[in-house]
Amino acid sequence: MAKKRDYYEVLGVDRGAPVEDIKKAYRKLAIKFHPDKNPDDPTAEDKFKEAAEAYSILSDEDKRRRYDQFGHAGVGGAAGAGAGGYGAGGFTMEDIFSQFGDIFGDSSPFGDIFGRGGNGGGRRVRRGSDLRIKLKLDLHEVANGVEKKIKVKRHVACGTCGGNGAKNGTSLTTCTTCNGQGQVRKVVSTMLGQMVSTSTCPTCNGDGKIISERCEVCAGEGRQLQDDLISLNIPGGVADGMQLSMSGKGNVPARGGVAGDLLIVIEEEEDPHLKRDGNNVVFDMHLSFVDAALGTATEIPTIDGKARISIEPGTQAGKILRLKGKGIKDLNGYGRGDQLVHISVWTPQQLSSDERATLESLRHSPNFQPKPGKNEKGFFDKMKDFFH
Ligand SMILES: [Zn+2]
Ligand SMILES: [Zn+2]
Repeated sequence: MAKKRDYYEVLGVDRGAPVEDIKKAYRKLAIKFHPDKNPDDPTAEDKFKEAAEAYSILSDEDKRRRYDQFGHAGVGGAAGAGAGGYGAGGFTMEDIFSQFGDIFGDSSPFGDIFGRGGNGGGRRVRRGSDLRIKLKLDLHEVANGVEKKIKVKRHVACGTCGGNGAKNGTSLTTCTTCNGQGQVRKVVSTMLGQMVSTSTCPTCNGDGKIISERCEVCAGEGRQLQDDLISLNIPGGVADGMQLSMSGKGNVPARGGVAGDLLIVIEEEEDPHLKRDGNNVVFDMHLSFVDAALGTATEIPTIDGKARISIEPGTQAGKILRLKGKGIKDLNGYGRGDQLVHISVWTPQQLSSDERATLESLRHSPNFQPKPGKNEKGFFDKMKDFFH
């Protein structure tokens, strides 16, 4: 990305220039570089935006002071920051018209160009709206990825007219207002001399063609609402709230154009037994202390059904068993997480008199006295092992 130019240089004014001069300079540049006036100059829009950004800072007393003191960094637009290359917010044409259109005044000859939100450039490709759906997935599907077929109600091009809304797709005539150009030009006299302004043709709405007889199937809309069966290939490792998009699977606009996107928002269903922790899944296992002392073999739930694990005799509470590769697929393809089995030892809360007598007889038995050794790590050491 090119280094950002100095705002004063962009507008061609002195550092001490009064606000009036800054306004004048911006106005001149905005007129000169207006994209509709420069259809053959692809750099015009960038220059237009650059001027708008400079004006937005230098016309604001507070922002200008910060800019004077700290440069681009002082106004949130450090060089290299910002996706669009315009760090001070990444202006879109719409922003510019809505924020600064009024410096030209409603009654000025420029009102026409600046009031139009930037789509005055005649025939542009129309884009349909996006569709958004929610997709519920259980842990098994999240972990492994899944292919789903879903029904989506969407606007598709009318099959009878092919999308243009004309009867048989052919009853179109060239718009006489714009001679098929989709835009009209108008010469206006301004204080800066004569200027040509271009705007969307009001008769054909920029199509350049007029429908003489409407398609009967879609009533001239060029599209129909239809239940579409769409195959979704969801990769393993997605997470709640994540949004996937399929381009071109949204709505087709009226009278032809490209379809919008289908946006799929993931909803993760909670699993009754397993908790997700990043790409790992955690299972809390409660062992009786008899099983913990004598060892046992048991079945536990995993993402892919039940698995048999054995518990060593003498297993301590707080031990974590790791089932390698039994977790969630990494979204970026870096393998798979693990299943962690957290062991708690269940202490009985009610005892019959026989049970009580049995336990009493063991109370002073030497093997029942705690003797933590090196292998019985404390809580913090265990955490360290797992997270470092
Ligand atoms: Zn039709
Ligand atoms: Zn027209």
